[in-house]
Amino acid sequence: MTSEMSASVGEWRTALRARLGDDLVLSERDAMIPYCRDWHGDVTSDAVAVLRPRSTEQVAEAVKLCRELGLSIVPQGGNTGLVLGGIPDAGQNQVVLSLERMNRIRQIDADDFSAVVEAGCILSELKDAIAEKGMFFPLALGAQGTCRIGGNVSTNAGGINVLRYGMTRELVFGLEVVLPDGSIFEGLSTLRKDNRGIDLKQLFIGAEGTLGIITAVSIKLTPYPDQVATALLGLASLEDAITLFRRARRDCCDLMSAFEFMPPLAFTLAKEAMPDLPIPISAEYPAYVLMEISGSGLVDIDDLMGRFLEVVMEEGMVVDGTIAASQAQARNLWLIREGMNEGQAKRGIHLRTDVSVRLSQLASFVADAESAVAEAVGDVTCVSYGHVGDGNVHLNVLPTAGATPDQQLEQMYKAKGAINAVLDRYQGSISAEHGIGRLKREDFEARLSPVRRHLLTAVKQAIDPDFMMNPGCQLNFIPNS
Ligand SMILES: Cc1cc2nc3c(=O)[nH]c(=O)nc-3n(C[C@H](O)[C@H](O)[C@H](O)COP(=O)(O)OP(=O)(O)OC[C@H]3O[C@@H](n4cnc5c(N)ncnc54)[C@H](O)[C@@H]3O)c2cc1C
Repeated sequence: MTSEMSASVGEWRTALRARLGDDLVLSERDAMIPYCRDWHGDVTSDAVAVLRPRSTEQVAEAVKLCRELGLSIVPQGGNTGLVLGGIPDAGQNQVVLSLERMNRIRQIDADDFSAVVEAGCILSELKDAIAEKGMFFPLALGAQGTCRIGGNVSTNAGGINVLRYGMTRELVFGLEVVLPDGSIFEGLSTLRKDNRGIDLKQLFIGAEGTLGIITAVSIKLTPYPDQVATALLGLASLEDAITLFRRARRDCCDLMSAFEFMPPLAFTLAKEAMPDLPIPISAEYPAYVLMEISGSGLVDIDDLMGRFLEVVMEEGMVVDGTIAASQAQARNLWLIREGMNEGQAKRGIHLRTDVSVRLSQLASFVADAESAVAEAVGDVTCVSYGHVGDGNVHLNVLPTAGATPDQQLEQMYKAKGAINAVLDRYQGSISAEHGIGRLKREDFEARLSPVRRHLLTAVKQAIDPDFMMNPGCQLNFIPNS
């Protein structure tokens, strides 16, 4: 920041402290760093202050004051987002508004299969509290020990259970939102059926904090699936994995809750991150699937998994496999999936993508995109894995180990261009579940039709006419800014 700006920053901080109180305002550089650095530590930015309200009323008060002072607001939950949506642009007039102190569970109603929770609840803590009542909140992702439900709703998070329970959008009954003028949208209904006109809450789900600040959420619960069967399977190809997925949906009565595809390199990467991790299957097959079926009540899940695997192995669709005999073994199988991600991070900077195509085209897309990367960049390593059943693949690219940092960046840039060109041919999405944030904004804008851009701008102008909410995230709404 320039010295001229610093004077303003000082005045802004004084005004924030005077009206909101010292307890709500962080402005020391060291204290602000965790709120201004992205999950991977690739980017560290700066903010005028970090505001940490404890109630919806305090959020509304902070929003009104920021409006008066001409400050923009970047809402933040657990800061696990992967597209730079929840940290500010360095050097601008932005405050981070963290929801971390708004973490009360207002109500869990097992009879109604619903709960009302504040936006700052950590996902795993929320799931545990709900499980204690014999209920289940199905959203499940690798970051669940840190991400917060307001962030999940704002990114419309996906995760491993989407194929059975849907994206976060399908788990939300209602929202409470502080709007950019400081007014409060009170929409915390737990009604399952409510067709009174346009469903306004949908505007805020997936908006990545560009339209308002979600302060509480009413969510849909299901009975706790106390029976879970987990299997790791070796297959001859990704095509076979997709055929298996279709078959499993039908034969397992739609009780399949996860179906993750991994390449053989997953084991090497997982071992690099967790050397003691047991790998209970040979690493010689071209494709692997981590599959889970689950249920509650009278159905016998273990028997269902056993019978299903017997048939598909007899038919040769699955070449090898292991079923977890205990919860600890199931946990180890999931650690391979998590360790694979950590192993990639350990190898250093790499391209992470989060794309989707139609399920029927997934195998040919991966083959075409990997060939396009090889042609454009040459000797790099592609790691394609993902939630498969919903057409979502993370086609990551690890640059050449000995290359200089500049060469690695160039390789990643070229690889992204090659992948996106194939994706466009397949009419796929550049963001299946992580959102747009600041990282994918240019790629998003480049693919927007004029009508879609017009509609998005009209919604933004109607709700946030001064463009104070999360500027630079999703769209550059102010032309030439
Ligand atoms: C190891 C790992 C695994 C992951 N796996 C998955 C996965 O499987 N599927 C998936 O979809 N994502 C995944 N993610 C990405 C990330 O966890 C999700 O996007 C998550 O939903 C973000 O929640 P958060 O609380 O951390 O939000 P943040 O990162 O804090 O914010 C994300 C966005 O939401 C906005 N926001 C946050 N809270 C609010 C609020 N209360 N009101 C308005 N706007 C708000 C922010 O401004 C930002 O734009 C993963 C991330 C990691 C690190």
